Amino acid sequence: MSEKEIPNGFHYVGNCIRPPSEANSILLQATLGCSHSKCTFCGAYKDKRFAIKDRKHLESDLRFARHYCKRQDRVFVMDGDAFIMPMKHWKWLLGEIRDKLPWVRRTTCYANLKSIMLKSDEDLKWLYDNGLKAVFLGLESGHAQVRKDIRKGGTPEELIHHCKRLRKSGIKLVSIVLLGLGQTHLSMEHARETGRALSEIDPEAVSALSLMPLRNTPLGEAYEKGEFDMPDPLGIIRELRELVEHTNLSRGSFRSVHASNYLPIDAKFPRDKEAVLATLDQALAGNVQLKPEWMRGL
Ligand code: SF4
Repeated sequence: MSEKEIPNGFHYVGNCIRPPSEANSILLQATLGCSHSKCTFCGAYKDKRFAIKDRKHLESDLRFARHYCKRQDRVFVMDGDAFIMPMKHWKWLLGEIRDKLPWVRRTTCYANLKSIMLKSDEDLKWLYDNGLKAVFLGLESGHAQVRKDIRKGGTPEELIHHCKRLRKSGIKLVSIVLLGLGQTHLSMEHARETGRALSEIDPEAVSALSLMPLRNTPLGEAYEKGEFDMPDPLGIIRELRELVEHTNLSRGSFRSVHASNYLPIDAKFPRDKEAVLATLDQALAGNVQLKPEWMRGL
C-alpha cells in the first residue's frame, strides 16, 4: 500500500480488550496478548501469543486514524500489557502519534508490575513527557500469599516500590483490584493488605471488581473441583467494606461499577469514604438490594 492510500480500517488480531473509560479512544493494537499470561484467574488473550506487532500495521492504522478519527483525542494502546514494549518501540510510537495525530491529548495502556520494573525512572519520565499520561494496572491483591497463589508475580513490596516510581514520573495510575481472590479463609487479610498497598501507592483511581471464576482458567478449574472457594455475595460486600476501611487515598476515585460487582460504588476519597462505609453497613444489614447473580458479567 502506498503512503497516500487510505486503509479501510484498523488492523486487529483476536479479541481486543480496553477499559470502559477508553470507549471513545482510538484503539491502536501495538502488541498481541500478554507477556505474563500466567495469572490463574485470567481468561484473556488465550487466543494469541505475546508479540510486538509489525510497524507496517501500525503505520497503516495511524494513516486510517489520521483520516477518520479527528474527533477522538485519546489513544489507547493494546493489548494486555503494551507498557512492556521496549523504549525504542515507545519512542517510535509516541513520535508517530505526535506527528500523525497532533490533536491527541493523551495516550494510555495496560501495564503489569514487570513492565514497570523494566523501565528506569528516566524512561518513565520520558514516556510521560511524550504523551503517555496514564496506565491501567491489574494490581489484584496486596497480599503476599494471594499474589503467589494467583501467580501474579512480584511481592507487595516490589509492587508498592515500582508503582510509587511510576507515580513520581507523573504517569497517572488506575489500579484494578479483585475481590474474592483470597477465598473465604484469606478474604479479610486480602482486603486489608490490598488497602494497605493502595494507601502507600496512593493512585489516582481504584477500580474494584469481583471475581467470577472462568472455566478456561486454572482458578476456574479449581473452583469447579471444589478446591477454590468463593465468599458468598455478603462475604464479598464484607471484603469490600474491609478494603474501603483500609484504603486511604490523598485524592482519588474509588469505584466498583464493573458489571461483576454486587453493589456499585462511585466515590471520591477521602471525601466520600464515611458515606461509602455507611452504605456498605446498610448492605450488610440487608437494607440495600444487591445485584442478582444473573445480572453479573465480565
Ligand atoms: S497480567 Fe493481566 S492480562 Fe496478563 S495474565 Fe495477568 S491478568 Fe491476564
